[in-house]
Amino acid sequence: MNPIASEERLACARAGGPDEGPRLDSRVTVLRGVGGERAAQMERLGLRTVGDLFWHRPARYEDRRKFTPIRDVLLGTPVTVCGRIIAVGNHRFRKGTKSCFEFILDDGTARLHCRWWNLPFLEKFYSVGNEVLAYGKPNSLRPRTMDHPDAEKIEAGDDERVHFGRIVPVYPLTEGMPQRTLRWIIWHGIDRFLPHLPETGPWRTPELLGEPAAALGRREAVQMLHFPAELPEAEHARQRLALDELAALQREIQGRRQRLNLKAPGLPCGGDNRLMRPFLLGLPFKLTGAQTRVLREIRADLAGLHPMRRLLQGDVGSGKTLVAACAALMTVESGYNVALMAPTELLAEQLHRVLDRALGSLGIGVGLRTSNTRQEPDAGSVPELGSVWVGTHALIQKAVEFPRLGLVIIDEQHKFGVAQRETLLRKGNFPHLLVMTATPIPRTLGLTLYGDLDVSLLDELPQGRGRVRTHVRTPDTLPKVWLFVARQLAAGRQAYVVYPRVSESEHDDVKSVTREFEKVRDALAPHATAMVHGRMPSVERTRIMDAFRDGRVQVLMATNVIEVGVDVPNATVMVIENAGQFGLAQLHQLRGRIGRGSHESHCILVEGERTEEARERLKVLAETTDGFAIAEADLRLRGPGELVGRDQSGLPGFRFANLACDGKLLEAARASVRRELAAETAKFAVKPAASTSAQ
Ligand code: ADP
Ligand code: MG
Repeated sequence: MNPIASEERLACARAGGPDEGPRLDSRVTVLRGVGGERAAQMERLGLRTVGDLFWHRPARYEDRRKFTPIRDVLLGTPVTVCGRIIAVGNHRFRKGTKSCFEFILDDGTARLHCRWWNLPFLEKFYSVGNEVLAYGKPNSLRPRTMDHPDAEKIEAGDDERVHFGRIVPVYPLTEGMPQRTLRWIIWHGIDRFLPHLPETGPWRTPELLGEPAAALGRREAVQMLHFPAELPEAEHARQRLALDELAALQREIQGRRQRLNLKAPGLPCGGDNRLMRPFLLGLPFKLTGAQTRVLREIRADLAGLHPMRRLLQGDVGSGKTLVAACAALMTVESGYNVALMAPTELLAEQLHRVLDRALGSLGIGVGLRTSNTRQEPDAGSVPELGSVWVGTHALIQKAVEFPRLGLVIIDEQHKFGVAQRETLLRKGNFPHLLVMTATPIPRTLGLTLYGDLDVSLLDELPQGRGRVRTHVRTPDTLPKVWLFVARQLAAGRQAYVVYPRVSESEHDDVKSVTREFEKVRDALAPHATAMVHGRMPSVERTRIMDAFRDGRVQVLMATNVIEVGVDVPNATVMVIENAGQFGLAQLHQLRGRIGRGSHESHCILVEGERTEEARERLKVLAETTDGFAIAEADLRLRGPGELVGRDQSGLPGFRFANLACDGKLLEAARASVRRELAAETAKFAVKPAASTSAQ
């Protein structure tokens, strides 16, 4: 390359010369009217470069083609009005510590009072004679009043096209940045730089045929997002940009999977049935149809060409542990070791006990590893067999090694992060992976979080389970609730009583298990009551769990440490106090602890809090026991971040996509990326010699 020519080009670019177009990664200061202070404000909004302007999504839109006459405003209905200020005042009260700034707008039809509390500096911005737009909900009609409206002063020389006579964007702001200024900056930024945004064109996927969003190019979508001609255009634009986001993520997820398949052969872990057959024959029940189907899928994977990456989704009580045990058996038969990771010590200990009993008799060593316990698997009597390690996070510590690791199983996957899963996998040479989750997740979320996994569904509960009835009660009915529980105990059943806290907090009156213990024990005497929570020594906890399992303890008072995995079929009652403190998924999990035997079970949700959202949650729970329906409701009520736990989730922060409502877009993006990758693979694959067919 000619060094001088490139020097020249650089100089040209610095001077904004004619050859080089303006670049999207230029700082916002290249824009007219943006100096150092504005740039600092914009940086607080995430706007560093001119390209960032495109993606600053309006919080809402205002139709300024027509204003509502002040005379016609209605109580509680949001409107935009336009008028002139005829009076201004700033009242101070409470010895000057509080204030109320107010002006009166007149538009010729009527007057409107606009008020702001404790923002005295507004006084500097508005004076009599100013023309002002105000958006808000009138909260009184006598006189007509709006508290804390969004107000915007109309200045002489304002660009008509940007602020009026159209649908205008209203952006998220930061201190010191007026709406009008940012709108103006973005308008001009788009005007000048949009032609330099790489165009990606309309989406021509058959899945989205006829969808207005798919017909848009990227540039068109950006333009419409900010300055739509009609309101629906803004939504189409959002969807179009969401498609790009979803596709980018699918490309990453599916690409990762494809690379794994290319570089790693699957370890042969399909087994030969010599242990499986006696194991299944020894079970006191038959596998459900779903279990049989899923095990077939798993065996095909374990014996397949590539490492298994499979998600087993099954509602609480659908029998995932048994599936895990069978997958472990296949692996052990093949001479490989298995690591099974569970999120809590309680669950790890329980899994260890179950597997040790089930597999130990076949000569398989089952070890346990938690931060408190370390129990080596007994060297089995058959030397060519592998062994099974059960444990908590302790399994992924640096020093822990698993030779010949064939299969990694993760129970209650939603409690772990992607990083933890990967750490455990790296302890072997591309072992197979089975992750299990009892919190069904909506499909959109599943494809986003676990898009690189194949999914098996345990959609059938074992026969002979009693029904679970759910009741919502208020705290004043507790005496009756305890009477009901006592009757169940007298009939030989057992009960859980669950609290959101270990001990009380000074900030609220949410009940805690330690505070309520004596009260409940006395109410349910003479039945034996004990308590478990996360802040007690694990030896103690194990002792109490054993006593509950054996029936020596009839009432178990607990925090949500019992949320996952605990399996005591004789427990048929669960009372959850301050139930509104728990999320839907958590409540569903908790409730999954009962209804495991043949007796009818009862879940009593005591509603301590009266927020609308909490009540809505309890209502969903009372209406259905279907985990998938509950998950969809949860996504709708709380959004994806809350649903999976933002920090652990590996959930991308979408700007435009919304997993609660963009299912169709996601499916389309996924299908399209899949075709794209398949076409690429075909291109790189060795071409069959063309000459043979030509002859
Ligand atoms: P989860 O899917 O919630 O982990 P578990 O694996 O704990 O469920 O199983 C719940 C209970 O169902 C256990 O007591 C288990 O022994 C029992 N179980 C599993 N499979 C079957 C089956 N096919 N028939 C009857 N009971 C079963
Ligand atoms: Mg389980």
